[in-house]
Amino acid sequence: MSDTPVSAADAVATPSRATRILEASSLSKTYRRGPENVRAVADVSLSVDAGEIVALVGPSGSGKTTLLSVLAGWEHADAGEISWTGHPMADPGTLGWGDMAIVPQTLGLVEELSVRENVELPLRLGDTIDWGEARVETLLDELGLTRLAERLPAEISLGEQQRTALARALVHSPSVLMADEPTGHQDVEWTRGVLRVIEDAAADGIACLIATHHLALVRYAHRVLRIEDGRLAAVAPEEVVAAGDEL
Ligand code: ADP
Ligand code: MG
Repeated sequence: MSDTPVSAADAVATPSRATRILEASSLSKTYRRGPENVRAVADVSLSVDAGEIVALVGPSGSGKTTLLSVLAGWEHADAGEISWTGHPMADPGTLGWGDMAIVPQTLGLVEELSVRENVELPLRLGDTIDWGEARVETLLDELGLTRLAERLPAEISLGEQQRTALARALVHSPSVLMADEPTGHQDVEWTRGVLRVIEDAAADGIACLIATHHLALVRYAHRVLRIEDGRLAAVAPEEVVAAGDEL
Protein backbone atom coordinates (compact mmCIF):
# COMPACT_ATOMS: atom_id res chain seq x y z
CA MET A 1 0.00 0.00 0.00
CA SER A 2 1.39 3.41 -0.87
CA ASP A 3 1.43 6.55 1.22
CA THR A 4 0.41 8.71 -1.70
CA PRO A 5 -2.51 11.02 -1.03
CA VAL A 6 -5.33 9.48 -2.97
CA SER A 7 -7.92 10.75 -5.30
CA ALA A 8 -10.37 8.71 -3.24
CA ALA A 9 -10.35 11.64 -0.82
CA ASP A 10 -12.24 13.56 -3.49
CA ALA A 11 -14.68 10.73 -3.84
CA VAL A 12 -15.40 10.80 -0.09
CA ALA A 13 -16.96 14.22 -0.51
CA THR A 14 -19.54 12.91 -2.98
CA PRO A 15 -20.30 9.29 -2.15
CA SER A 16 -23.16 7.82 -4.10
CA ARG A 17 -24.43 6.24 -0.89
CA ALA A 18 -23.84 7.98 2.38
CA THR A 19 -22.05 5.26 4.30
CA ARG A 20 -20.99 2.57 1.83
CA ILE A 21 -17.20 2.61 1.82
CA LEU A 22 -16.00 -0.58 0.20
CA GLU A 23 -17.91 -2.74 -2.24
CA ALA A 24 -16.87 -5.72 -4.30
CA SER A 25 -18.89 -7.41 -7.01
CA SER A 26 -18.29 -10.84 -8.51
CA LEU A 27 -14.63 -11.05 -7.51
CA SER A 28 -12.78 -14.18 -8.55
CA LYS A 29 -9.18 -15.21 -8.07
CA THR A 30 -7.63 -18.46 -9.23
CA TYR A 31 -4.09 -19.46 -8.32
CA ARG A 32 -2.32 -21.54 -10.93
CA ARG A 33 0.29 -24.02 -9.77
CA GLY A 34 1.48 -25.92 -12.81
CA PRO A 35 -1.42 -28.04 -14.03
CA GLU A 36 -3.38 -27.37 -10.83
CA ASN A 37 -5.88 -24.51 -10.49
CA VAL A 38 -7.02 -23.34 -7.05
CA ARG A 39 -10.12 -21.17 -7.19
CA ALA A 40 -9.39 -19.29 -3.94
CA VAL A 41 -12.11 -16.64 -4.41
CA ALA A 42 -15.15 -17.47 -6.51
CA ASP A 43 -17.71 -14.86 -7.54
CA VAL A 44 -17.71 -12.98 -4.23
CA SER A 45 -19.78 -9.85 -3.77
CA LEU A 46 -19.79 -7.89 -0.52
CA SER A 47 -19.92 -4.43 0.94
CA VAL A 48 -18.82 -2.77 4.15
CA ASP A 49 -20.35 0.45 5.47
CA ALA A 50 -18.86 3.09 7.74
CA GLY A 51 -19.09 2.07 11.39
CA GLU A 52 -19.91 -1.54 10.58
CA ILE A 53 -18.08 -4.66 11.75
CA VAL A 54 -18.37 -7.41 9.16
CA ALA A 55 -16.94 -10.78 10.16
CA LEU A 56 -15.63 -13.00 7.39
CA VAL A 57 -15.62 -16.51 8.79
CA GLY A 58 -14.49 -19.74 7.23
CA PRO A 59 -12.18 -22.66 7.85
CA SER A 60 -8.50 -22.57 7.04
CA GLY A 61 -7.97 -22.55 3.27
CA SER A 62 -11.45 -21.18 2.51
CA GLY A 63 -10.12 -18.01 0.84
CA LYS A 64 -10.24 -15.35 3.59
CA THR A 65 -6.67 -14.13 3.15
CA THR A 66 -6.93 -14.19 -0.64
CA LEU A 67 -10.14 -12.15 -0.54
CA LEU A 68 -8.58 -9.53 1.74
CA SER A 69 -5.46 -9.44 -0.45
CA VAL A 70 -7.56 -8.80 -3.55
CA LEU A 71 -9.57 -6.09 -1.75
CA ALA A 72 -6.28 -4.51 -0.65
CA GLY A 73 -4.86 -4.60 -4.15
CA TRP A 74 -2.04 -6.92 -3.11
CA GLU A 75 -3.38 -9.57 -5.47
CA HIS A 76 -5.16 -8.86 -8.72
CA ALA A 77 -8.58 -10.39 -9.25
CA ASP A 78 -9.16 -12.37 -12.44
CA ALA A 79 -12.67 -10.95 -12.60
CA GLY A 80 -14.94 -8.59 -10.74
CA GLU A 81 -14.95 -5.00 -9.62
CA ILE A 82 -14.04 -3.11 -6.47
CA SER A 83 -15.67 0.19 -5.64
CA TRP A 84 -14.63 2.82 -3.12
CA THR A 85 -17.36 5.14 -1.82
CA GLY A 86 -19.45 4.20 -4.82
CA HIS A 87 -16.78 4.70 -7.47
CA PRO A 88 -15.10 1.83 -9.33
CA MET A 89 -11.44 1.63 -8.45
CA ALA A 90 -8.83 0.15 -10.78
CA ASP A 91 -6.19 -0.49 -8.13
CA PRO A 92 -7.00 -0.43 -4.40
CA GLY A 93 -3.25 -0.69 -3.83
CA THR A 94 -3.04 3.05 -4.49
CA LEU A 95 -5.07 3.83 -1.36
CA GLY A 96 -3.12 5.23 1.57
CA TRP A 97 -3.10 4.16 5.23
CA GLY A 98 -5.67 6.84 6.02
CA ASP A 99 -8.13 5.20 3.62
CA MET A 100 -7.58 1.48 4.03
CA ALA A 101 -5.38 -0.09 6.68
CA ILE A 102 -4.65 -3.75 7.08
CA VAL A 103 -3.53 -6.15 9.76
CA PRO A 104 -2.07 -8.91 7.57
CA GLN A 105 -2.02 -12.49 8.77
CA THR A 106 1.77 -12.29 8.43
CA LEU A 107 1.78 -8.96 10.37
CA GLY A 108 4.43 -7.28 8.21
CA LEU A 109 6.18 -5.31 10.97
CA VAL A 110 9.47 -3.63 10.13
CA GLU A 111 12.04 -5.64 12.08
CA GLU A 112 14.52 -2.74 12.45
CA LEU A 113 11.94 -0.39 13.99
CA SER A 114 10.72 -0.37 17.59
CA VAL A 115 7.10 -1.11 18.47
CA ARG A 116 6.40 2.63 18.75
CA GLU A 117 8.14 3.39 15.44
CA ASN A 118 6.15 0.65 13.72
CA VAL A 119 2.92 2.12 15.06
CA GLU A 120 4.00 5.62 13.99
CA LEU A 121 4.99 4.49 10.50
CA PRO A 122 1.74 5.40 8.68
CA LEU A 123 1.87 8.85 10.27
CA ARG A 124 5.52 9.34 9.31
CA LEU A 125 4.76 8.31 5.73
CA GLY A 126 1.98 10.87 5.69
CA ASP A 127 4.14 13.47 7.45
CA THR A 128 1.51 13.93 10.16
CA ILE A 129 3.39 12.73 13.21
CA ASP A 130 2.59 15.82 15.30
CA TRP A 131 -1.15 15.45 15.41
CA GLY A 132 -0.90 11.66 15.69
CA GLU A 133 1.26 11.56 18.81
CA ALA A 134 -1.64 11.31 21.28
CA ARG A 135 -3.33 8.64 19.17
CA VAL A 136 -0.11 6.58 19.19
CA GLU A 137 0.05 6.67 22.98
CA THR A 138 -3.66 5.83 23.35
CA LEU A 139 -3.40 2.80 21.06
CA LEU A 140 -0.19 1.59 22.72
CA ASP A 141 -1.96 1.83 26.08
CA GLU A 142 -5.22 0.17 24.97
CA LEU A 143 -3.30 -2.70 23.40
CA GLY A 144 -0.95 -3.25 26.35
CA LEU A 145 2.15 -2.12 24.46
CA THR A 146 3.28 0.97 26.37
CA ARG A 147 5.99 -0.77 28.39
CA LEU A 148 7.17 -2.60 25.27
CA ALA A 149 7.23 0.47 23.04
CA GLU A 150 11.02 0.72 22.68
CA ARG A 151 11.55 -2.99 21.92
CA LEU A 152 12.04 -4.48 18.48
CA PRO A 153 9.43 -6.90 17.10
CA ALA A 154 11.84 -9.81 17.65
CA GLU A 155 11.91 -8.92 21.37
CA ILE A 156 8.17 -9.28 21.98
CA SER A 157 5.70 -12.17 21.71
CA LEU A 158 3.74 -12.98 18.57
CA GLY A 159 0.56 -11.81 20.28
CA GLU A 160 2.21 -8.49 21.10
CA GLN A 161 3.49 -8.21 17.52
CA GLN A 162 -0.05 -8.76 16.29
CA ARG A 163 -1.38 -6.03 18.58
CA THR A 164 1.39 -3.73 17.28
CA ALA A 165 0.14 -4.38 13.73
CA LEU A 166 -3.40 -3.51 14.86
CA ALA A 167 -2.22 -0.26 16.49
CA ARG A 168 -0.34 0.60 13.28
CA ALA A 169 -3.47 -0.03 11.22
CA LEU A 170 -5.65 2.19 13.41
CA VAL A 171 -3.21 5.05 14.05
CA HIS A 172 -4.38 6.96 11.00
CA SER A 173 -8.10 6.37 11.76
CA PRO A 174 -8.62 4.83 8.31
CA SER A 175 -11.96 4.67 6.54
CA VAL A 176 -11.59 0.88 6.31
CA LEU A 177 -9.83 -1.56 8.62
CA MET A 178 -9.20 -5.03 7.25
CA ALA A 179 -7.78 -7.47 9.78
CA ASP A 180 -6.82 -11.05 8.99
CA GLU A 181 -7.41 -13.26 12.04
CA PRO A 182 -6.44 -10.41 14.40
CA THR A 183 -7.06 -12.56 17.48
CA GLY A 184 -5.18 -15.56 16.09
CA HIS A 185 -2.23 -15.10 18.46
CA GLN A 186 -4.14 -13.71 21.47
CA ASP A 187 -5.12 -15.36 24.74
CA VAL A 188 -8.73 -15.06 25.92
CA GLU A 189 -8.10 -11.80 27.78
CA TRP A 190 -6.39 -10.12 24.84
CA THR A 191 -8.93 -11.55 22.41
CA ARG A 192 -11.47 -9.45 24.31
CA GLY A 193 -9.02 -6.51 24.36
CA VAL A 194 -8.50 -6.64 20.60
CA LEU A 195 -12.23 -6.91 19.97
CA ARG A 196 -12.86 -3.93 22.26
CA VAL A 197 -10.42 -1.84 20.22
CA ILE A 198 -12.11 -2.95 16.99
CA GLU A 199 -15.53 -2.12 18.47
CA ASP A 200 -14.25 1.36 19.41
CA ALA A 201 -12.89 1.80 15.88
CA ALA A 202 -16.30 0.95 14.43
CA ALA A 203 -17.98 3.32 16.90
CA ASP A 204 -15.69 6.03 15.51
CA GLY A 205 -17.06 5.27 12.03
CA ILE A 206 -14.36 2.96 10.70
CA ALA A 207 -15.67 0.22 8.40
CA CYS A 208 -14.20 -3.05 9.72
CA LEU A 209 -13.84 -6.27 7.74
CA ILE A 210 -12.45 -8.95 10.05
CA ALA A 211 -11.44 -12.41 8.84
CA THR A 212 -11.51 -15.13 11.44
CA HIS A 213 -11.91 -18.88 11.63
CA HIS A 214 -13.22 -18.41 15.16
CA LEU A 215 -17.01 -18.34 14.97
CA ALA A 216 -17.16 -17.16 18.59
CA LEU A 217 -15.84 -13.76 17.50
CA VAL A 218 -18.89 -13.09 15.41
CA ARG A 219 -20.96 -11.96 18.38
CA TYR A 220 -19.03 -8.69 18.07
CA ALA A 221 -19.94 -8.34 14.40
CA HIS A 222 -22.90 -6.50 12.96
CA ARG A 223 -22.90 -8.85 10.00
CA VAL A 224 -21.37 -12.23 9.31
CA LEU A 225 -20.22 -13.54 5.94
CA ARG A 226 -19.15 -17.15 5.70
CA ILE A 227 -16.71 -18.20 3.03
CA GLU A 228 -16.34 -21.82 1.97
CA ASP A 229 -14.15 -22.95 -0.89
CA GLY A 230 -13.92 -19.36 -2.05
CA ARG A 231 -17.67 -18.78 -2.15
CA LEU A 232 -19.79 -16.75 0.23
CA ALA A 233 -22.49 -18.80 1.92
CA ALA A 234 -25.35 -17.88 4.22
CA VAL A 235 -24.93 -18.07 8.00
CA ALA A 236 -27.96 -19.02 10.08
CA PRO A 237 -28.57 -16.45 12.85
CA GLU A 238 -29.03 -19.16 15.50
CA GLU A 239 -25.62 -20.58 14.57
CA VAL A 240 -24.05 -17.20 15.27
CA VAL A 241 -25.82 -16.75 18.59
CA ALA A 242 -24.84 -20.24 19.77
CA ALA A 243 -21.22 -19.76 18.77
CA GLY A 244 -21.10 -16.34 20.42
CA ASP A 245 -21.67 -17.92 23.84
CA GLU A 246 -18.09 -19.15 23.85
CA LEU A 247 -16.60 -15.73 24.59
P1 ADP B 1 -7.64 -18.80 4.38
O1 ADP B 1 -7.07 -17.43 4.61
O2 ADP B 1 -9.13 -18.85 4.53
O3 ADP B 1 -6.96 -19.83 5.21
P2 ADP B 1 -6.31 -18.60 1.78
O4 ADP B 1 -6.91 -17.43 1.10
O5 ADP B 1 -4.98 -18.43 2.40
O6 ADP B 1 -7.37 -19.17 2.85
O7 ADP B 1 -6.22 -19.80 0.76
C1 ADP B 1 -7.31 -20.15 -0.11
C2 ADP B 1 -6.85 -21.25 -1.06
O8 ADP B 1 -5.89 -20.72 -1.96
C3 ADP B 1 -6.16 -22.42 -0.37
O9 ADP B 1 -6.50 -23.59 -1.08
C4 ADP B 1 -4.70 -22.10 -0.53
O10 ADP B 1 -3.92 -23.27 -0.53
C5 ADP B 1 -4.67 -21.41 -1.87
N1 ADP B 1 -3.58 -20.41 -1.99
C6 ADP B 1 -3.39 -19.34 -1.20
N2 ADP B 1 -2.34 -18.60 -1.60
C7 ADP B 1 -1.84 -19.26 -2.69
C8 ADP B 1 -0.75 -19.01 -3.59
N3 ADP B 1 0.04 -17.94 -3.45
N4 ADP B 1 -0.54 -19.92 -4.59
C9 ADP B 1 -1.33 -20.96 -4.76
N5 ADP B 1 -2.39 -21.25 -3.96
C10 ADP B 1 -2.64 -20.41 -2.94
MG1 MG C 1 -5.70 -16.83 6.00
